Amino acid sequence: MTTHPHPAVITRYAEGGSGLDDATVWSVEVHLEGCPGCRSRLAGTATDDTRALLDRVAAGLAEGIEAGPDPVRPPRPWSAVHRRWLVWALLPWLTMTVAVLACAFVLASVRPEVPSLVLLLAPVAPLPGVAVAWSRRADPAWELIAGTPAAGLPMLLRRTASVLAVVVPALALAGAGTGVSLALALLPCLAFTAATVALGAVVGVRRAAVGLGVLWTLAVVLPSVATMHLPVVLRPGSVPAWALATVALAAFAASRASGFRRLSSHN
Ligand SMILES: [Zn+2]
Repeated sequence: MTTHPHPAVITRYAEGGSGLDDATVWSVEVHLEGCPGCRSRLAGTATDDTRALLDRVAAGLAEGIEAGPDPVRPPRPWSAVHRRWLVWALLPWLTMTVAVLACAFVLASVRPEVPSLVLLLAPVAPLPGVAVAWSRRADPAWELIAGTPAAGLPMLLRRTASVLAVVVPALALAGAGTGVSLALALLPCLAFTAATVALGAVVGVRRAAVGLGVLWTLAVVLPSVATMHLPVVLRPGSVPAWALATVALAAFAASRASGFRRLSSHN
């Protein structure tokens, strides 16, 4: 232990250390940590102001301890659901998708001789929503979310499920209203969603959605409208092939889960 400071030094230290240089103040503090005698001398030389301050702090602490900790409000279940499942950016895209399907339904009712636009658009109906659900441009919290342990494929699947929860009933309604096969409306929709997720692991979800949408439109939708005939891929015999493709693509997407764990520039 260092030597006891002179009582006058302790008194001046108690008065705020005026007139003491930094080295003296520091040595007094080091000594006080290990010397109960000098601590009690310091307590005896405290000014009235210091005592009043200490009394106020002690009373405040005692009051706080008696009251106990502030109750922690449990998070509202809705806020968690909202954070995980919904991105507000999806709303306009989902509204647009439902509006396009409604137009296809109206057209099929007015002009039954035209190949069913509900069937032709079913595969690409969920793609705008899926692309936006995993787009860093549309989600202001993307960087934050992508850095969390829950990011990656599970989050993409939850958001994709949110999109399908809107698109699938809309497709089913439009399909039932126009009398087309429900399996032929829904299976291609699910297959293209799985294909977007699978391809998204390689080239990014947005690029995959845009690429598949453009490919389907050029290869199937435009020729069908031009020739006024439904393509063979949308005839009842193709249902097993669509079911098989959906399962295979979903399995492939699951096997590429690690592709969604990186913060890559193309997502
Ligand atoms: Zn001492």
